[in-house]
Amino acid sequence: MKHLNSLLLKSDTWKEMLVDNQRMVSVSLSEVEQVLRLARMTPGLAKYEKALHQLSIFFDKAFALYRKEAPDELSELVALWERYSAAVLQRYTGVIAVELRAADHIVSNIFARFLAQVPNQNVAYAADVIPLVYGGEGGLSAYFTHPPDLDRPFAIINLPHSAFANVWQWLALPHEIGHDLYATIKGLDTELETALGDRMRKAVQDGEVKIPDIDFDLTPYGHGRSIKYSGGDFLAALWKGWANESQGDMMGLINCGGATIVGLQQIIGFGTGGMWRLRPGPDGGVRDEPEPHPVSYVRNALNIAGLRLLGQGHKELADEIEERFTALRPADTHVAFRFGRTRVDFARIEVGELVKSAQLAAEILLKQPLKVLGDKSYSQLATFTEEDQQKVDSLVEPLSRGDSTFASGAGIEARHALGATVLAFERDRANSHAINRCFKHFLV
Ligand SMILES: [Zn+2]
Repeated sequence: MKHLNSLLLKSDTWKEMLVDNQRMVSVSLSEVEQVLRLARMTPGLAKYEKALHQLSIFFDKAFALYRKEAPDELSELVALWERYSAAVLQRYTGVIAVELRAADHIVSNIFARFLAQVPNQNVAYAADVIPLVYGGEGGLSAYFTHPPDLDRPFAIINLPHSAFANVWQWLALPHEIGHDLYATIKGLDTELETALGDRMRKAVQDGEVKIPDIDFDLTPYGHGRSIKYSGGDFLAALWKGWANESQGDMMGLINCGGATIVGLQQIIGFGTGGMWRLRPGPDGGVRDEPEPHPVSYVRNALNIAGLRLLGQGHKELADEIEERFTALRPADTHVAFRFGRTRVDFARIEVGELVKSAQLAAEILLKQPLKVLGDKSYSQLATFTEEDQQKVDSLVEPLSRGDSTFASGAGIEARHALGATVLAFERDRANSHAINRCFKHFLV
């Protein structure tokens, strides 16, 4: 070979080269350090300094470690670094200071309420952790939090730029915090998923929920086997797969109440489409699982059931939300779970039965005491009371009016103000500009 290296004809040398390629990824911590130095001289910004500095050290160490031990995963770390660095730069250059300050109030409020009560030995973060929001990418519904498997000192949450003038959709933030905590509280996922799975199996066994057995032949698709589930195992697999998203929704309810569902409906709608995934499994086999977001129709039912479980005081709002759900949902009798984006039905399940299972799931998610949470349930750690709803309601009118003191009353927390945004928007959409402006500027 004249132009090319013949060593790269061997697949192991080729792979080695690819790894070397990854290892060359380099980032400069200096730009962020400059900004931190400036921030240190600005009293109003100083409160983040310690935490941000801590995270800089984390990146420094993590890059060294990944370069040595896991170069093929470096690009994931770089993506996180880019977002962290955006968060720092956005804060300290004042580009979108107003939005981030408001978002910070919300996430700090919600983190503190929940985490402060979880036995700290089970939490991967420090007890006084301050989460960080940045203005990110992806369009109106692209709220997300960062990969939990990187052992970060705190949460980094994406607030889409496009949602800056849509503050009522920030009701997605508690849900994202839910994802973060789900990954950060060690063992929470397995314990909650086991509880959900057990309850669903029992429900099918006892005839509370009727789910048919599933037997899907993969032979025409090149795998000489079938995917088989008993009804109980199928319902268990469904809710275990949906557990993370579902508990994120519950985190919204226990912080902001029914307003969360009003915001959620704008994002997910009411449809009955379901997705099933096939992935390569061990020994050349395939693994199958549901797409992690519950089918929208069922997710509406889950949230409404959850709100009702938080107490009789929420009945009125829950009824109104349910009325909207009933009016706008499709007339479909079944949920068809399809493979990926194909039209191949993997399973067809009566939607009414899934709605029944959503009621049971809400009970487990909100009321089941969990060992990792110090033998408490989600709603025992933090809940949304009738008084909370009254506070939210009291903010709606001043918020629509653009009253700069709207959130300064005694006992008003950022989460109450957040809940009020979507109710103010419901009342009079013509005021959306005032709602956005007032919320972002005057959320104290
Ligand atoms: Zn989610």
